[in-house]
Amino acid sequence: MMATLAADSGHVINGGWYRGDCHVHTRRSHAGELTPARVAEAAREAGLDFIAITEHNAADAYDSWGSDVLVIPGQEVVTGTGHWVAVGLAPGQVVDWRYGVRDGLIERAVESVRRAGGLCIAAHPHAPYPSGVLMYPFRHFDAVEVWNGAWRSGVPWQADNEAALAEWGRGLAADIRDGRWRPAVGNSDVHLEGQIGTPQTVVLAAELEASALLAGLRAGRSWIAESASVQLSFTAHAGDRTAGIGELLSTGGEAVVARVEVHGVPDGIVSFHTERGRVHQEKSGKAELPTSADESGFIRIEVRHADGGMAALTNPILLHS
Ligand SMILES: [Zn+2]
Ligand SMILES: [Zn+2]
Repeated sequence: MMATLAADSGHVINGGWYRGDCHVHTRRSHAGELTPARVAEAAREAGLDFIAITEHNAADAYDSWGSDVLVIPGQEVVTGTGHWVAVGLAPGQVVDWRYGVRDGLIERAVESVRRAGGLCIAAHPHAPYPSGVLMYPFRHFDAVEVWNGAWRSGVPWQADNEAALAEWGRGLAADIRDGRWRPAVGNSDVHLEGQIGTPQTVVLAAELEASALLAGLRAGRSWIAESASVQLSFTAHAGDRTAGIGELLSTGGEAVVARVEVHGVPDGIVSFHTERGRVHQEKSGKAELPTSADESGFIRIEVRHADGGMAALTNPILLHS
């Protein structure tokens, strides 16, 4: 899908929405079963344009993926007190993992990733196994993986994703006020057949190229879909001004209308979330919310199935009067 990105500065980027999965293991990782060729093929089948390969504490060592899917080098940094994902590393770069939350060493590690132009993502913050729970505060990271793996009713991961989303959502208003909010991302953390692309992050970028995609993810110009069959658009309007996901709408004190359109979730419920919580919901399809910058500093969207499983969620549109 092509799109025009009108940033608040008036700077316009012609780009596209690209689907990716930034937390991917092959059989090089513990419990991983897929060959690199199968990963690349399955990524295409799942509708992905790009993946980040993130083995446990090891660099991407494959020369060929046998597919035209864009592969970005990364690493899952498995520390003693939680995991995080580095995306966009230099070839062969391995990020230090030999520390825990009390050692004061994570800042140096995340800086080494940023120096390489990479992005640091807090991984599955509430994973229910020893050392899987993230004990570092979100402030160390550029983005938060609020959605890791399947988020369906009856799947054990659902409770962990709900906790991650709640924690991220609780900090959002204050972080936006302070000018340092961290976008949400969703990744499959694929180890087995049938997992890649569930979920996937859909990002607006100037082109299908690593640094452009990472810039879009860093800015929060992205939303998360459970699969490639879910489509969503979300914009906010005040007077003749429009902003998209991750952008700031300067309202000039005028009333705001937030508009969302969802396809591919027939039983879906669309809900609008602001700093006052969930303020409105209706059946999936087209939905609108009248609001203002006085009401909230942001609006974000969730789309859930009737059983409560997540079909899509967006990063916020920011509002300022
Ligand atoms: Zn992990
Ligand atoms: Zn993982």
